[in-house]
Amino acid sequence: KLHVADIHKSYGSHEVLKGVSLTAHAGDVISIIGSSGSGKSTFLRCINLLEQPNSGKIFAAGEELQLVPDSRHGALKAGDAKQLARLRTKLAMVFQHFNLWAHMTVLENIIEAPVHVLGVPKDEAIARARKYLEKVGLKNVEDKYPSHMSGGQQQRVAIARALAMEPEVMLFDEPTSALDPELVGEVLRVMQDLAREGRTMVVVTHEMGFAREVSNHVIFLHQGRIEEQGNPKEVLVKPKSERLAQFLSGSL
Ligand code: ATP
Ligand code: MG
Repeated sequence: KLHVADIHKSYGSHEVLKGVSLTAHAGDVISIIGSSGSGKSTFLRCINLLEQPNSGKIFAAGEELQLVPDSRHGALKAGDAKQLARLRTKLAMVFQHFNLWAHMTVLENIIEAPVHVLGVPKDEAIARARKYLEKVGLKNVEDKYPSHMSGGQQQRVAIARALAMEPEVMLFDEPTSALDPELVGEVLRVMQDLAREGRTMVVVTHEMGFAREVSNHVIFLHQGRIEEQGNPKEVLVKPKSERLAQFLSGSL
């Protein structure tokens, strides 16, 4: 279970998150939607402290992340670096721009963190990598370099790399929005498979079809606040909020 409570985040005098909370139980797939600048990425990045929130609480993998004031920023930082490192292994992140290491092959990309962060023996990590490459539908790519693959293939490698950490929760930040349209489907299908397997996922997305059909909860962020949330089959079909209605019609 992941529980994030009342996250506030400002950049200077600009308050980007005005108290955002989220609870993901095992097997939940939560979509976060909202217009550009509404704070979706900032919120996702606060969950694993890629951004430092100004206030809020984070509970993941059965523990509360210890947060202490960071005097330099007026924000919070991890009170215990080891705990943060441990929690980050449970919260795998998949980014818009894949963020694969260009100088490493596909296999090296996937085994890097299992071997060096989790201490998995190399042969076991390689077996894991092969298992997850198969799961994301990739064959004969182990020795390729990312730049020799399509964007859709690279993103599937990034998903395999996240899976190889065997995380409790997977966090996705617009995993398909950097892809050519014809490559979006192959990545969404993989994510749909993961959802069907019961993986816990939090997905920032512009793909309303995914939000409606795959997720079981949707959160609409507007100017740093949750404007509306609920079952996607209701919220996306009959929004109560005028702003969400405008967003869904493409005019926000
Ligand atoms: P998009 O759909 O375009 O990805 P988003 O909902 O993910 O948008 P964020 O990237 O979270 O939005 O940004 C929210 C606001 O915070 C924006 O106004 C942005 O300019 C501001 N912001 C984000 N990161 C920083 C930063 N490092 N420094 C200053 N302002 C920032
Ligand atoms: Mg974003």
